[in-house]
Amino acid sequence: VIRLGQGEHSINTTCAYCGVGCSLNAEMKGSEVVRMVPARDGKANEGHACVKGRFAWGYATHKDRILKPMIRARITDPWREVSWDEALDHAASEFKRIQAAHGVDAIGGIVSSRCTNEEGYLVQKLVRAAFGNNNVDTCARVCHSPTGYGLKQTLGESAGTQSFKSVERCDVVLVIGANPTDGHPVFASRLKKRLRQGARLIVIDPRRIDLVETAHVRADVHLQLRPGTNVAVLSAMAHVIVTEGLLATDFIAARCEERAFEQWRDFAARPDNAPEALEAVTGVAAPLLRAAARLYATGGNAAIYYGLGVTEHAQGSTAVMAIANLAMATGNVGREGVGVNPLRGQNNVQGSCDIGSFPHELPGYRHVADATVRGAFEQAWGVPLQAEPGLRIPNMFEAALDGSFLGLYCQGEDIVQSDPNTRHVTAALQAMECVVVQDIFLNETAKFAHVLLPGSSFLEKDGTFTNAERRISRVRKVMAPRAGYADWEVTVQLSKHLGYPMDYRHPSEIMDEIARLTPTFAGVSYARLDALGSIQWPCTADAPEGTPTMHVDEFVRGKGRFIITQYVGTSEKVTRKYPLILTTGRILSQYNVGAQTRRTDNVQWHDEDRLEIHPHDAQERGIADGDWVGIASRAGETVLRALVTERMQPGVVYTTFHFPESGANVITTENSDWATNCPEYKVTAVQVLPVSQP
Ligand code: SF4
Repeated sequence: VIRLGQGEHSINTTCAYCGVGCSLNAEMKGSEVVRMVPARDGKANEGHACVKGRFAWGYATHKDRILKPMIRARITDPWREVSWDEALDHAASEFKRIQAAHGVDAIGGIVSSRCTNEEGYLVQKLVRAAFGNNNVDTCARVCHSPTGYGLKQTLGESAGTQSFKSVERCDVVLVIGANPTDGHPVFASRLKKRLRQGARLIVIDPRRIDLVETAHVRADVHLQLRPGTNVAVLSAMAHVIVTEGLLATDFIAARCEERAFEQWRDFAARPDNAPEALEAVTGVAAPLLRAAARLYATGGNAAIYYGLGVTEHAQGSTAVMAIANLAMATGNVGREGVGVNPLRGQNNVQGSCDIGSFPHELPGYRHVADATVRGAFEQAWGVPLQAEPGLRIPNMFEAALDGSFLGLYCQGEDIVQSDPNTRHVTAALQAMECVVVQDIFLNETAKFAHVLLPGSSFLEKDGTFTNAERRISRVRKVMAPRAGYADWEVTVQLSKHLGYPMDYRHPSEIMDEIARLTPTFAGVSYARLDALGSIQWPCTADAPEGTPTMHVDEFVRGKGRFIITQYVGTSEKVTRKYPLILTTGRILSQYNVGAQTRRTDNVQWHDEDRLEIHPHDAQERGIADGDWVGIASRAGETVLRALVTERMQPGVVYTTFHFPESGANVITTENSDWATNCPEYKVTAVQVLPVSQP
């Protein structure tokens, strides 16, 4: 706490929006936050913050906050306010009843990437130790699960390789499937500064995003590909690098598996991977594909930054591995200014994955089938653990519709609004017998809940978030939990009611347990975080102050592994009935499904989702800027107002998904990544036609 005078003081914490993880100072008058100011010494943000971090925190005291637990027997009944004890007892006895009748695997839980590491750790512990199964998953399933899979397969660790600061040493930056200006604004400023100093820029994106050309920045190459063809574009670039002798042969010989490299090299050299052969598939002219490959391979320190435009595809994991292949092939891993950098969407996507919230992995990305690792957790938690992976979120929905999954504990995620194919999600929830939602608002998912447990905002709790550069930063309580409990305390209480008491007096004790059981977190504690400001994992005896750059002398898995990444077109095809491709993204002032930002003054900058459409497609349909249009896909339909813009290419339309009434996920399909089930939000075949105002 820093005293500011005149009754004001300041408490340092971390922004709860995007994966940049800006350090913020909450300036307080008494017990009220009066302003949020970026911390000058924050290593992720160096004194900067965007309009979300600075201005969109008022939702914490919004009138819509749920402050009392509520229960109801059926989702058609009115809610009944009850005590915490009654709500927790009801949830626990319903979960026990379902397990007694349908087996131990009939319930599960969802970890939120908006909550702290400590809260995520407790939810997965509750599921594994108190529920007795591995049916735990995280909302990272629907965003960066392919990053976890793809980077583990190739480099050996499910995380980005660099610090944000590393961008200051880049000579070439390749941005693919990311729009940092809107999605990661403070990092975007750092990137643009480097570009203004002369770094070269390659953008691979179906839209003319801000980075392609603004007042201060212009991309050297923009590959305006068709949605769904990332892997084909990356294959074409690999082909050029292999066939034009641009490989970093010394790096590959010293650092990578020889046989796997040779197989990949032969695959990349195949004529069907040549830019000329892939022009028709990608929609990108071969000379541009060649120029991008040459610039990336020969321009000096080259770094790749990518986002959900890479992962949220049927070939999301394939694309992540193709990116890692390119970085290894050109020797762009293991030092500053290079690397493979996933730009994480939510504040704690990295952390929620790190602390064991996937159904197949215990904390630290260690498989549940590993008897030694499992044994360590069994000893610490005092119960036997299942060795079989549990259900992923989409599998939970399928099992619910089959009648074998009937109880869900969902902490801090609005799955109805954020998961694809809303009709399918709501049908699954309606098939369940006990849905427990823990959230700060009565969100769309709560409409299908039987128990509502009030959640807490980031201002009401202690804990840590881990940002996109693996940086663990403190979240500090600046006000008392408005409903009485912080989220971590609710999980502790629920566990107690289930007959598995957990004994923590403060989140620092949870972090101490994580550090004891997770080698990459071994040196992390609240005392060290307070002393160092933040720590990038791995934090071990060898790296007591953390690890800004990974894979320096060798890859985490030993030798880097090239993996063959064959392009396969998505099954979501355009037809005469659905002739356009819809892709989705975010805007600067709003955040994801908008539950928080819509309840702040940020709505003054953006108060509705619009459908961006190219003038040619608009004219063909008689659509003018601002007209209402109906959008129909194979999954559903919705209505939005049109924004006619040359940002779009003909044949592709785009929208954000911040407002529930826009229903963007009513129309997205159930297609998903072959390895991780991450939904293919970025490719939906649609028809767009003018309609009268709804
Ligand atoms: Fe920083 Fe992201 Fe928060 Fe903006 S939303 S202040 S960029 S962490």
